Amino acid sequence: MSSQYVYFFGAGHTEGDGKMKELLGGKGAGLAEMARIGVPVPPGFTITTEVCRLYLRGQSYPDGLREQVAAAIERLEAATAKTFGGGEQPLLVSVRSGAKFSMPGMMDTILNLGLNDTTVQALAAASGNERFAWDSYRRFVQMYGDVVLSVPGARFEELIEARKHDRGVKEDTDLSADDLRELTGAFKDVVREHTGDEFPADPQDQLWGAIQAVFRSWDTPRAKAYRKVNGIPDDLGTAVNVCSMVFGNMGDDSATGVCFTRDPSTGEREFYGEFLVNAQGEDVVAGIRDPLPIARMCEVMPEAYGELLDAQAKLESHFRDAQDLEFTVERGHLYMLQTRTAKRTGRAAVRMAVEMVDEGMISIDEAVLRVAPAQLDQLLHPTIDPAAEVRVLTTALPASPGAVSGKVVFNPDVAAEQGLHEEVILVRRETSPEDFHGMVVAQGILTARGGMTSHAAVVARGMGKCCVAGAGDIEMDEARGRFTVGGVTVHEGEWITLDGSTGRVILGQVPTVEAELSDNFRRLMEWADQFRTLKVRTNADTPHDSQVARKFGAEGIGLCRTEHMFFEGDRIDAVREMILAGNPTGRAVAEAKLLPMQREDFEGIFRAMDGLPVTIRLLDPPLHEFLPHGDSEIKHLARKTGIPAAVLRTRVDAHHEANPMLGHRGCRLGITYPDITWMQAQAIFEAAVNVAREGVTVCPEIMVPLVSTRAELTQQRHIIDQVAEEVFDHAGLSVSYMVGTMIELPRAALTADEIARDAQFFSFGTNDLTQTTFGLSRDDAGRFLPQYVEQGIIPDDPFQTLDVGGVGKLVEMASRLGRGVRADLKLGICGEHGGDPRSIEFFHATGLNYVSCSPYRVPIARLAAAHAALNDPRLKEPKMVEKPEMAAAS
Ligand code: PEP
Ligand code: MG
Repeated sequence: MSSQYVYFFGAGHTEGDGKMKELLGGKGAGLAEMARIGVPVPPGFTITTEVCRLYLRGQSYPDGLREQVAAAIERLEAATAKTFGGGEQPLLVSVRSGAKFSMPGMMDTILNLGLNDTTVQALAAASGNERFAWDSYRRFVQMYGDVVLSVPGARFEELIEARKHDRGVKEDTDLSADDLRELTGAFKDVVREHTGDEFPADPQDQLWGAIQAVFRSWDTPRAKAYRKVNGIPDDLGTAVNVCSMVFGNMGDDSATGVCFTRDPSTGEREFYGEFLVNAQGEDVVAGIRDPLPIARMCEVMPEAYGELLDAQAKLESHFRDAQDLEFTVERGHLYMLQTRTAKRTGRAAVRMAVEMVDEGMISIDEAVLRVAPAQLDQLLHPTIDPAAEVRVLTTALPASPGAVSGKVVFNPDVAAEQGLHEEVILVRRETSPEDFHGMVVAQGILTARGGMTSHAAVVARGMGKCCVAGAGDIEMDEARGRFTVGGVTVHEGEWITLDGSTGRVILGQVPTVEAELSDNFRRLMEWADQFRTLKVRTNADTPHDSQVARKFGAEGIGLCRTEHMFFEGDRIDAVREMILAGNPTGRAVAEAKLLPMQREDFEGIFRAMDGLPVTIRLLDPPLHEFLPHGDSEIKHLARKTGIPAAVLRTRVDAHHEANPMLGHRGCRLGITYPDITWMQAQAIFEAAVNVAREGVTVCPEIMVPLVSTRAELTQQRHIIDQVAEEVFDHAGLSVSYMVGTMIELPRAALTADEIARDAQFFSFGTNDLTQTTFGLSRDDAGRFLPQYVEQGIIPDDPFQTLDVGGVGKLVEMASRLGRGVRADLKLGICGEHGGDPRSIEFFHATGLNYVSCSPYRVPIARLAAAHAALNDPRLKEPKMVEKPEMAAAS
């Protein structure tokens, strides 16, 4: 006995269920579940993903498959009272792919399979509609030719266009039955020309050709690219769904549509979608005809609409989540063709999660887990500054939120290239999966055709990328590298701005403003905060950034890079003077200029972070980074300092380093120029005392960078403590403070037990720790790292997602060694990984106290930390929290 490779659904014979996504794919499992709960689906069967895996491995089908498919076809014939490949009522089927995770537009679909020169006649007779029969046939030959036989789709389109031109008509629907019959013949000629073979007339051959094409499409470059971007494993394989055809193009009592149980863009609880009367499946998604809003269906076919409303409500409450549905109405009868969890924007995800808790549909921890941390990025995106003067070229569909500017590019290959080093907007008539690589790198996407459920809209929303779709006013002229709209011609390379929230297309670059945070967002974040054990701080260097981060929920500053303050206004002159003074006295003069500026900065930051800890790192970068290089800059400095330009040039040259990232930087500066440490510590403590007098609660944590031995820290700490004593004595007031170090060199991690004797806290500088562990420069790695990732030599860019196996081991070891010596050692991380959800999971598991990241990533880190806690098997009983009242959240 071979295993079961085929699962039937519908007509009272359903064999699978909704939980079997692994084996039946998302679509197959959804169809089986719908059939089980009594939602009308056309009967059919699913060939399992296991068959795909076996097929791709050995290029052959397992024993028993052909028999099981034949039996399922027989059962389908019985269920529909139709015959496959003949009879008065020919059975036609659709063949669709369906993997465990939905991959929109990635896999190929064949409709109307089973038609040939004989069955088309029977279909014409049975339907009483010759035009419909020939239209179905020509669509089948076209799709099959394109998808299975690899005939370029454009060849068929050209023939249709030519025919419409000859007939003097605009729409496909204006072509007659005779036109369509002749087109079908012409299509078959094209197939013969291209493949050297006749178009397959035997429905069995057609079926097995389609099955094979679906399996093969799993390994196409575009499917692989999609999986890569979305982190879907390559070894899952796809199922094949063979479904009896129902027709939305049988006249004005037939229709087809795509809908969502809630608005996927805003999350509003409103049945949402689009439909087309007298049309077939792909017409809505492909954006070839403009669809109508779903609510209008109530006027056109009220009964079917009523059934659709019932079905969508039943499906949402059954799956306890918003669903993305496809349906067809055939002569007044509703059939659901697909249900799946609806992809949604970040804004919609938050709103749906919160409202579903209020509706009693899901629990609070489910709500927190429903929103992927990275999705929040979209909510925090800027919008167009309302005060900005804008020149709106046209307004189209607001398909995916955000506000972005970029240079116009028409070709996705060019976008993929150019988008790596500058901002581009991909402008297309409509997009298809072939465009995916260009869409990934573009800032935003603008299409001239297609609705809210078109390929561009669906894919952009999934990626959280700004998209304006269906800008019908735009006249594209890619050949000449331009488009025209409202009398304005925009050339390739010119700047435009997209407003994905309103659908505006704007000429030029436009200023943007920060995002407004909604009540739903705030509530979700409050729930997340109840679960997480990691604290979240921010990396901020100015009072303004500190305020922004605090608004986003930062619980302190984890890294204030003091050198960033040095670049503001004309401060850089004093910094240069300090570096190039040539002796301690000259340096002291420059330091005296810098001291009050630094003090003032620290005061501002302390005030913004009243009551929260502020980690201030002493000067870190190599000094040459501050120095002037051009002659005119040196002359300018010579005038300001009175030092001759020639002397300055010699001194600048003396600071030159070939390998700047590991040279004279970090605590090595403070050790060779102790007066710089002195000045910075003085600025910090004086600022702390000043604001403490105002009633602000200050908690400074002074951090020494790039330590590799305990002695370095001991020496720097000695200066810091000495300055503190002097400042506090002088002020007659003291504040409590901490001294700690960054752990960003392997030697520091290896000797963390020694270093911890002098450190009250460690902050892992995973940027430097990554480059020093790998031995690769973070500034130069961009030239080759992408290829490493592409070739699978490393799974991810280690500067984005922590290399747990290597760098993570050092973090884990240093934490253990440090805490072994000092049980209350505070542990944090302030490298870029502090805002990366996957790395945060590791930091949670390692027992760090906090992560610190850029202000805009603070909410992402809060949510990721909550996910890490909720998914932590060690925290077996996550705190179940009472559902808060609406009022409490307002
Ligand atoms: C680090 O190295 O991780 C760090 C935070 O410091 P910087 O990026 O400033 O070197
Ligand atoms: Mg560093």
